[in-house]
Amino acid sequence: MKAPVKSSASSSRANYIVSAEEGLFAQLAEHHHEQVSLYADPAAGYRGIIAIHNTQLGPALGGTRVWNYESDEAALIDALRLARGMTYKAAVAGLNLGGGKSVIIGDNKLKDREPLFRAHGRHVESLGGRYITAEDVGTSTADMEFIRAETSHVTGLMGKSGDPSPVTAFGVYRGIKACAKHHYGADSLAGKTIAIQGAGNVGYHLAGLLYKEGAKLIVTDIDAGRVQRVLQECKATVVAPDAIYGQQADIFAPCALGAIINDETIPQLKVEIVAGGANNVLAEERHGDELEAKGILYAPDYVINGGGLINVNAELHGWSLERAHNKAGEIYDTILRVFDIAREHRIPSYLAADRLAEQRIATVSRVRQNFV
Ligand code: NAD
Repeated sequence: MKAPVKSSASSSRANYIVSAEEGLFAQLAEHHHEQVSLYADPAAGYRGIIAIHNTQLGPALGGTRVWNYESDEAALIDALRLARGMTYKAAVAGLNLGGGKSVIIGDNKLKDREPLFRAHGRHVESLGGRYITAEDVGTSTADMEFIRAETSHVTGLMGKSGDPSPVTAFGVYRGIKACAKHHYGADSLAGKTIAIQGAGNVGYHLAGLLYKEGAKLIVTDIDAGRVQRVLQECKATVVAPDAIYGQQADIFAPCALGAIINDETIPQLKVEIVAGGANNVLAEERHGDELEAKGILYAPDYVINGGGLINVNAELHGWSLERAHNKAGEIYDTILRVFDIAREHRIPSYLAADRLAEQRIATVSRVRQNFV
């Protein structure tokens, strides 16, 4: 049996240090990564790393990030950390996918992209389906088409599942309702005041769903045009970016940046629930403990924003949009299970989410041990 995923911390927050003294294999063992693949094609200007964290539930899926890393070590650390995050996200979303990620070292504004992404496609193909790629920071659907020329193990293609943010927003909306059910005893959001940070793809769609249910919205964005849409369509109150943390509201929905729950923002919060679409919301694990100590209910980010991954999975398996929506709707029950585990074991919700993911991986792996 493969080693179970480690239970200490969720991927985004675990410490990764790759040092010559400790050795690469020790680093892989530390967080139970299965495989790291390095591939170079100097003619294409390609230097890529694919990290596969865990394939106990299915092929490792995770996007391709293009970034000008300050060192090869920094690129590797990012790939390892992000791959592990994908294992947990897929597991709690109830998908038959493992966790992986790839990074390409370089300028993501590069003009001549075909050689780079075809080289990456060959790298992905060399893993024989153990890893499936998709878009991430610095890549587009057009880049996925170049990868597609070399491998079928790619998703997020043009004309297929398309923009994942409506499905993500629907999952976040269902997750917020679950938070309300847990905290107030009823899941209606009518009359609740919800402060949304970021009126981008996810924030905009989320605002529409909340407004339709009768919530009062406070919204901010650094982009005036994006905020204007929500102001007009959802009669939101607009505040300055820095003012969003101190709003008198019931729920705070971060839908912009990561690490916004931190030492500076926690003392400002006047809400009872933090639940939104952004990734890596907690600057550090201890901030999850601090929310708990303040009596603020926190919906773990990778559970509530799993709709994007569900959308990609829908493309892989040819699901209808309706089926993808139904699956994202299940985030309601998953969030309630996370809170139940937290209550039962007296642990903060962010750790309860890790435990739920690990439980599913262990259970499914056991089922698969039988010879049929
Ligand atoms: P987006 O770029 O469309 O929207 C983000 C918005 O945040 C932008 O309008 C930007 O101007 C705004 N913003 C940036 N800095 C800000 C600040 N300091 N204060 C206020 N607003 C600020 O991105 P998105 O696709 O809506 O994703 C939002 C978040 O959700 C990200 O953290 C992303 O990783 C996460 N997420 C997105 C999806 C998806 O399906 N798009 C899925 C899972 C997670």
